[in-house]
Amino acid sequence: MQGKKSMRLIDERGLRHDGRRPDEIRPIRMQVGVLANASGSALVEYGKTKVLAAVYGPREPQQKFMILPDKAILRVRYHMAPFSTTERKSPAPSRREIELSKVIREALEDVVLTSEYPRTVIDIFIEVLQADGGTRVAGITASSLALADAGIPMKALVAGVAVGKVDGVLVLDVDEVEDSSGEADMPIAAAPDLNLITLFQINGVLTEEEVERGLSMALKAIQYIVSLEKSTLKQKYEAIGEEV
Ligand code: ADP
Repeated sequence: MQGKKSMRLIDERGLRHDGRRPDEIRPIRMQVGVLANASGSALVEYGKTKVLAAVYGPREPQQKFMILPDKAILRVRYHMAPFSTTERKSPAPSRREIELSKVIREALEDVVLTSEYPRTVIDIFIEVLQADGGTRVAGITASSLALADAGIPMKALVAGVAVGKVDGVLVLDVDEVEDSSGEADMPIAAAPDLNLITLFQINGVLTEEEVERGLSMALKAIQYIVSLEKSTLKQKYEAIGEEV
């Protein structure tokens, strides 16, 4: 078995295996309104990681026990497509997917104004089309955009990014190689306009100083990603404005 430290992830110039600087994110692309039959949708790419989010609702749930009298229920299903990884992944929901669905829901619940739609359900389906690390944080970014695209009122937009530690160096927006061979990773999501962190996880061991430094690297990137979300949504509304 290959040891975790066998691969060098930072070269003598201080660059990462894909040529990025430690504080550099991958190229990010985003698009909204990509599905005709969903209330809102978004496709988000962080480098080779490609995630689709579709929002359905608010709508009346089929099972009446799902109803809350004072607010909408937010449901999230995170799923990796069988073709999203190099080895075909089982299509059945794994424990990891069930756990990620829950943490993603918690990362969004604080910003969605669910009280505007009592007795309804808002469904968010996240489909990982291509996985190369950071799928949960790209899924949060895609969900935030899809919710906005569906016209669901939110206190603020949310975005996510993961910070990792490889060869003793903190790196921003880890990919799969860095995630699987690195020493630690820290997925973070936040709503910068509310000064609110909505997801904070740590896998592995980091010192207090590294956590603080990693958090500030992530928050800076999240601010940038949210600004991309805003311009993506604005472009869509400008295009609609031109049509009418
Ligand atoms: P995240 O995608 O949020 O970083 P993980 O840390 O659990 O979540 O996974 C890191 C990466 O490992 C994923 O982005 C994906 O590229 C890969 N991976 C995760 N689960 C599987 C799986 N079942 N099969 C193949 N690759 C996987």
